[in-house]
Amino acid sequence: MEGVEMTDHRNHGHGYLSWSHPLARVANRHCRAHNEYRRSGWAGGIGSVACGACWEWAIRDDERVVIEYGVSRHQGPDIDVVDEIAIERACRGEQVRLTRVERSIAAAQLRDSENLTDYQIAHRLHTNSEVVRQALALADATTAATDLAEVA
Ligand SMILES: [Zn+2]
Repeated sequence: MEGVEMTDHRNHGHGYLSWSHPLARVANRHCRAHNEYRRSGWAGGIGSVACGACWEWAIRDDERVVIEYGVSRHQGPDIDVVDEIAIERACRGEQVRLTRVERSIAAAQLRDSENLTDYQIAHRLHTNSEVVRQALALADATTAATDLAEVA
């Protein structure tokens, strides 16, 4: 009577969710964003990487990307590799080339930690509001980032 097969890998305990997980950096990024926003003194969560909600977010996001764009997560370096440095630089307003996933992380981060509007995010990321709306939709399609920031 375990849950759905799709979520099977999450039922095997927390050992699976560690820094060796391919999405660890993504989960950690989410978690650092909402924890800095909330308070300092963050313990690190599951596997010293991220809290359960942020793991969930990263994993669902990844599944969503696979479904949305019909790509395997093992093909296309654009989708697979999330360049945190690029995201950080983009959030500071530097002109950086971002993948769709990176842009969605950057946009959600600017919205949630700096409370920027779509227009302000577009300006910061050197893009237009339509692209920002799509990026935020991708981020929100999974777990609402604002819920994480408010409820966590
Ligand atoms: Zn978290």
